[in-house]
Amino acid sequence: MQHSCLLCRKTTDKLINGYCEECYKKEFKLIEIPHKIEIIQCKNCGKINSRNKWYHTSIENEFLKTVRIKGKDVKIKLEKSKTGFRVFAKGYVNGDYREERNHVEISINNRICPICAKKKSGYYEATLQLRGNYNDQILNFIETQLNKIEGRDNKAFFRTKKVRGGVDYLIGSKSATNKVAELLKRQFNAELKRSYKLHTRKEGMNIYRDVILVRF
Ligand SMILES: [Zn+2]
Ligand SMILES: [Zn+2]
Repeated sequence: MQHSCLLCRKTTDKLINGYCEECYKKEFKLIEIPHKIEIIQCKNCGKINSRNKWYHTSIENEFLKTVRIKGKDVKIKLEKSKTGFRVFAKGYVNGDYREERNHVEISINNRICPICAKKKSGYYEATLQLRGNYNDQILNFIETQLNKIEGRDNKAFFRTKKVRGGVDYLIGSKSATNKVAELLKRQFNAELKRSYKLHTRKEGMNIYRDVILVRF
């Protein structure tokens, strides 16, 4: 018995859910993906901008967020191509096993994220001044702690400056500087002395930089 396809009206003796085989494949897909996506990436640190926030993530993961799963038990594999990814999907649609091949074009829009812009401009909020009998173990400790904190507080970047009688850490985050100073006090019995240095005026307000002198 002949039936006509709901979509293209072609007559055939084999309909699947009312569609001819071609239309069925087109209408019932394993996945739906955009043909092209644009990714905003910091050219300095590689972070990706997603919904106005910057994250450490991969281009693969960023693309996978745009995939709409339509089938069941769908597995997706990506393969780099010249202009993006080849996307292989396998799984089930209405109980039928299916494999699909697609391609997505990726265009990368290179920018500088706000944190990298701050680093480049030499921005810092606080100074940790090391004086007295400190050693390499303590320097390593400070840098390990700051790197750890940077996972949560991305302003915890720093640079160092040799000065008479010691070394200064110029740190992008006041709270990170405070945390490290407190740790130095607890773990190495360091003596802390806090002061504030007028840095600039902004919108009629005085902006201060914290200065913490750490003596060992
Ligand atoms: Zn059809
Ligand atoms: Zn960056």
